[in-house]
Amino acid sequence: MSTVQLSVLVDSHIHLDDQRFDFDRQELIKMAQLSGVGRFIVPAVSVNRFPAVLKVAEDHPTVSYTLGLHPYYIDEHTATGLEFLAKSLQGSGAVGVGECGLDYYLKNLDRDKQQKVFEAQVILAKHFDLPLVLHVRGAVDDVFKTLKKHDYFKAVMHSFNGSVEQAQQITEKGIYLGFGPAVCNPKANKLQQLIKSVPVELMMLETDAPDQPFYDRAGKRNLPIDLLRVNLEIAAIKGVEPDFLAAQTTANANHLFKL
Ligand SMILES: [Zn+2]
Repeated sequence: MSTVQLSVLVDSHIHLDDQRFDFDRQELIKMAQLSGVGRFIVPAVSVNRFPAVLKVAEDHPTVSYTLGLHPYYIDEHTATGLEFLAKSLQGSGAVGVGECGLDYYLKNLDRDKQQKVFEAQVILAKHFDLPLVLHVRGAVDDVFKTLKKHDYFKAVMHSFNGSVEQAQQITEKGIYLGFGPAVCNPKANKLQQLIKSVPVELMMLETDAPDQPFYDRAGKRNLPIDLLRVNLEIAAIKGVEPDFLAAQTTANANHLFKL
């Protein structure tokens, strides 16, 4: 019989503060922990979510958090909000800045404002020497350009779905790439090919729970324990042992977020 496995996996991107977890958060975290998912990075998406995120971290010692302004909520963000973010990062327990970035998928999101709000957060991350948790949809080149402009590459691009060439340029700068449930879709050939090209030393695992449901569970919440499935799938794609991938991606998260 093998020895009991200590909690090894880190979910590098999970919205445990989400209201859809309000009725069973505690149980889900416990269940995940017993199965080997031992640490969670919870990114805040707007100033009004900061209290909920802080509360989850306070209640659960295995939860670390980052603070940021997500491009999806660009209409809500204000100069005062950015000031509040800066103030909140000062002397806080935040392990990163984000979720922030650029989203070009939704056409109604003001791109100029997105760029300004994103760039302000890159400057803050650099100032506080904290890693960026990046949300990037259809905007890999512009996000990368902004990071180059500020010569700051301490970051993870979550749920990455750019090209092999983009992944190569980005990882050459030491930026981590996060992968989640989308890789489990048998139709996701392009993403699976991309993952083959990414060095495990620069990969992180995530569920993005409760969002990004698995292809075979449409409409259902994605859960913390689902990180195990992501780990197994990516290990199979990479042709490595799941234990090895778990240990390596945990080391990566520990390194970037100084856990
Ligand atoms: Zn997210």
